[in-house]
Amino acid sequence: MNSLATKLGRVNRALLATLPTPLEPLHNLERQLKYPGIFIKRDDLTGLGPGGNKLRSLEFIAGEAIARGNDTLIASGPVQSNLCTLTAAACARLGLNCILVHNGGETGQLTGNLLLNRLLGAKSYFIGDVTAKERSEFVRELAETIAPERSPYIIRNGATTGTGALGYTNAIPELVQQFREKSLPTGTIFAPGGNGGVASGLIYGNALLGFPFNIVIISVEDDKQTLSINIGNIISELEEILGLPFGHSLNQSCIIDDSYRGDGWGINTEMSSRAVLDFPKTEGILIENVYNSKVLVGMQDYIRLGKVEGPVCYLHTGGLGSLFAQFSR
Ligand SMILES: *Cc1c(COP(=O)(O)O)cnc(C)c1O
Repeated sequence: MNSLATKLGRVNRALLATLPTPLEPLHNLERQLKYPGIFIKRDDLTGLGPGGNKLRSLEFIAGEAIARGNDTLIASGPVQSNLCTLTAAACARLGLNCILVHNGGETGQLTGNLLLNRLLGAKSYFIGDVTAKERSEFVRELAETIAPERSPYIIRNGATTGTGALGYTNAIPELVQQFREKSLPTGTIFAPGGNGGVASGLIYGNALLGFPFNIVIISVEDDKQTLSINIGNIISELEEILGLPFGHSLNQSCIIDDSYRGDGWGINTEMSSRAVLDFPKTEGILIENVYNSKVLVGMQDYIRLGKVEGPVCYLHTGGLGSLFAQFSR
């Protein structure tokens, strides 16, 4: 623990998130599923903007940018990208300029995260229906155009980088502490796998602390093999940044489950659509469609099928802004 804490303490970091985020029991869900010991880790309540997991990543990304003397963050993503909105919030807090590049067109009405981006003062570009490669190219050229008046830092790969993943490596000691305070035996964490940033941070931190938790990653996008490769690559970056070897195989360190993703990113399954409607009525907590709904479906299934023992912890990764653009009536 000490060496992880020491190494993390030496990395540049901008304090942005309100931590620790609450760890709360879900008593109504416990009753529904007849399973004691269901908890939610409220990373939707990280404090800035609409909250969410990306703020943990941005602490280390903005920390690196500031240490390098950059004065502008450039983030890119789809129009309702949670990363873009949290980047705008982080920039406002830190006094940095924020530029957002969206693939997709400008919509007439400012809905969801688009409204928040405007309120947070970001400068937004809408570059239409382009490939990821074309978007990166646009960002690179834009960064060149604004220099040398501005010194931009480009956030790569949706903040799914080793630097970004440090946020969730750092969340493991936080969770260990919270479980200890509640006198709980450590249990199983259910978390989403998109590009794999959250997943790799958690898996790496958990391994370095001697596996206090079981980790189940519910893929919301790719098949198990693709997600595993992405996670493996980010873990290699983490090893390089902290200089602490992971030293385990991914297979032995976690479960990666791709059976709840349906047709992939942003496409609901019948069960995930229902979860978005049912969970707020059960617990008074809102979840969005792309990530949190599929993780909840997976966790409930594991509980029903008797695939877990002991406390379970549902990692709520936020994304509240996007929820307002996910329903048209
Ligand atoms: C980005 C994001 C995730 C996780 O994505 P990874 O790319 O796997 O790190 C999860 N939930 C929400 C709400 C997000 O915005």
